[in-house]
Amino acid sequence: MAEEFPFEISPMFEGERIRKDGMHVELSGPKSKGYELVRATPMDEIEDGRFTLIGPDLSEMEEGSRHPFAMIYKIAGELVEEDLESIVERRNHDFQNYIQGMMHLNQRYDVWVRISKDAVSKGLTSFEPIAKAVMMLFKNELPFIEKVEAVYVTDLAEIEKEMDAVKAVYQSRDDRTRDLHEEDVDTFYGCSLCQSFAPSNVCVITPDRISLCGAINWFDGRAAAKVDPEGPQFAIPKGDVIDVESGEFTGVNEIAKSLSSGEYDRIKLHSFFEYPHTSCGCFEVVGFYIPEVDGIGWIDRDYAGTAPNGLPFSTMAGQTGGGKQVAGFLGVGINYFRSPKFIQADGGWGRVVWMPKNLKDRVLSDIPAEIADKVATEEDAADLDSLRNFLTDKAHPIVERWEAEEEPEEEEEVKEEAAAAAPTMMQAAIPMQGMPMMMPSSSGTGGVKIILKNAKVSIDKVIIQKKE
Ligand code: SF4
Repeated sequence: MAEEFPFEISPMFEGERIRKDGMHVELSGPKSKGYELVRATPMDEIEDGRFTLIGPDLSEMEEGSRHPFAMIYKIAGELVEEDLESIVERRNHDFQNYIQGMMHLNQRYDVWVRISKDAVSKGLTSFEPIAKAVMMLFKNELPFIEKVEAVYVTDLAEIEKEMDAVKAVYQSRDDRTRDLHEEDVDTFYGCSLCQSFAPSNVCVITPDRISLCGAINWFDGRAAAKVDPEGPQFAIPKGDVIDVESGEFTGVNEIAKSLSSGEYDRIKLHSFFEYPHTSCGCFEVVGFYIPEVDGIGWIDRDYAGTAPNGLPFSTMAGQTGGGKQVAGFLGVGINYFRSPKFIQADGGWGRVVWMPKNLKDRVLSDIPAEIADKVATEEDAADLDSLRNFLTDKAHPIVERWEAEEEPEEEEEVKEEAAAAAPTMMQAAIPMQGMPMMMPSSSGTGGVKIILKNAKVSIDKVIIQKKE
């Protein structure tokens, strides 16, 4: 069937990356606007297979140009219900990545697409075959879809006109889980879609924890598992509670062990440091530990600058992804900031010290009032010194931790020596399951790699001395 399209279609193209110099066009993304949206629609309002384009087609776009881009799919079927919209929407990401010469990143209104020069030179000059291929895959892979039609939009005014209404749809999906909590249900849901590139990833979706990609909530998981129990979204019996605070359940641990082929056998859903949720690579936000202030910062995909530790999102995302439990880093969906159980095992919001202003504004109403103005943004702190000063000035609760941690040092005789050697270093104890560390060799000729697996490393003091 793929022969009728001017491109190959296969899951093997999923990891294809299209760099700037290889792209013909960039669509939506951080420097433009767009979204993807699936709507459940009555049968008689859909013409199966129809494609409509509003705005210029691919053939009218200059090489190297950037354009707004929205993709709307209307689906219908006897089993189709609103709860399935997010599930189908997430598959647009997979299916567009099956197309050779096409790269689809992110979701919702963060969607970011590139089409390669190579694909255009081989005859891809219109959006129509892309939409038709995705519609074909929707019907082949998701049999509950009986009819589908697609509308693609490249006209900026049209996208802007609809944007508020589209965001309201995402918001109403996210709001549905607000009054439901882990203690109210016996079943969580899992998703294995990202195992294609993060084989040991174990995505667990509960009423208090949206998926990492932010696209699938507990209701969505339930609807998907109901219509396609053998599909990528499946039920996880919660089992017994091992620890309420950190969110550890026997059912989750069992599924973690089997899905990760034994790589992990424990996941604490609301822990940042100990047995954290795995991070695939689709996460909307990366959390990162800042040892110099003993706090946690968060950085999202849309933030182009660097965090106070000097690193941008892309560097930390590279460190975090791949389906591992990485101590000191954690990928989450934005809606997890709204969870009453948000990293509660590690102090919740009281441990958060920095996040980009745009991200903070997005979740501001969910930040406890007493902490909201104590979380720094890039406007308050661009580096570690200014962050430390900001937290001190604002009497952030983390400052009490510094004081508590620094007290025993007073009694130690070598205090001055240590302070001179590492004036900003704080005591830290971080569990480091499987965290790779690069240690330079003393000869300086290449270094050695030490992998610590299931180790707990506790550092009471670090003394750095100049070699005599
Ligand atoms: S992040 Fe999780 S829920 Fe989202 S597609 Fe990947 S595995 Fe599925």
